[in-house]
Amino acid sequence: MWAAANTPEANAKKGRKGEHHPNWAVIGSKSLSSHGYVKVKTESGWEYEHRVVTGALPGEDVHHRDEDKINNNPINLERLSPSEHAQLHRQKQLER
Ligand SMILES: [Zn+2]
Repeated sequence: MWAAANTPEANAKKGRKGEHHPNWAVIGSKSLSSHGYVKVKTESGWEYEHRVVTGALPGEDVHHRDEDKINNNPINLERLSPSEHAQLHRQKQLER
């Protein structure tokens, strides 16, 4: 249910207006970023879904606990400072 099923391409095929505008998408539409993250269309534009879900502030990082970038279930996400986040990933590296 967190997959990018509701992409702009999929919406365009439904024949709604605005389909010729590349950036057009209904609010709540989802798209996969080039980095493998889910982006969601909000009233202020395209945002990373994991940031919208957690309400992350500018300067905060969001960590995916299971390291699955598209699993944006709130229980999989954790807001961290960039330094906490980097440390957490260093610890994970050492565990391998
Ligand atoms: Zn992380």
